[in-house]
Amino acid sequence: MAVLEIKNLHVSIEDKEILKGVNLKMQTGEIHAIMGPNGTGKSTLSAAIMGHPSYEVTEGEVLLDGENVLDMEVDERARAGLFLAVQYPSEIAGITNAEFMRAAINSRRDEDDKMNVMDFINKLDEKMAVLDMPEEMAERYLNEGFSGGEKKRNEILQLLMIEPTFAILDEIDSGLDIDALQVVSKGVNAMRGEGFGSLIITHYQRLLNYITPDVVHIMMDGRVVKTGGAELAKKLEAEGYKGLMEELGLDF
Ligand code: ADP
Ligand code: MG
Ligand code: MG
Repeated sequence: MAVLEIKNLHVSIEDKEILKGVNLKMQTGEIHAIMGPNGTGKSTLSAAIMGHPSYEVTEGEVLLDGENVLDMEVDERARAGLFLAVQYPSEIAGITNAEFMRAAINSRRDEDDKMNVMDFINKLDEKMAVLDMPEEMAERYLNEGFSGGEKKRNEILQLLMIEPTFAILDEIDSGLDIDALQVVSKGVNAMRGEGFGSLIITHYQRLLNYITPDVVHIMMDGRVVKTGGAELAKKLEAEGYKGLMEELGLDF
């Protein structure tokens, strides 16, 4: 079992404090959701964990089995078992999708345990079939000319191929039609298991109809203000953020 713990995380952008002490703890075998109104710092949280240079961590830590990932280089974070799907996946020039995934898989393996090409192709075929993806997607340059929906689907393919310990998925549902949403959810659900944990960040409850979270955290104004079970997301859907703020006596 692995544990991911965000402790008193404060993050600023251009000297403006966005995260004001986020606390959250999860372990493999669990899927957690973070919900919250727009502009509350959800993407800032994932960007800070990813090590985006514009986001300055002023206090706190993010511990993966007790090791502070904020002290690691970005590629080390991935090697340690973190997977971060960003809200706007970027293009990487000159590398095909397949090459990227094979390199990512092998970067987590020892020298004498690298995945060979045949095993890689077999696994790729299997996972692409799960996601109903056309074969040529693997040979395209990473994210180049991918539509929004293709990028999301591709992130989930990367997830299934790389098999990280923890995946932080920021708005994987944004801009998806119902079919794409179902495919993305199927991929995440296929990863469910003892060796995997996921933090799913979403603005809407809709995604959580397909991926049932074990724990739901509500984030407002840079902090986690409430934590509960899957029913919390349903309550939020019914009552809105305003209702929750009144209940908690919050006013921003
Ligand atoms: P969420 O994902 O919850 O919608 P974000 O983390 O994207 O929220 O944004 C939180 C706050 O930080 C917002 O007020 C937003 O305007 C601000 N912010 C986000 N990114 C930047 C940036 N690159 N430069 C300046 N302000 C930013
Ligand atoms: Mg936003
Ligand atoms: Mg966001």
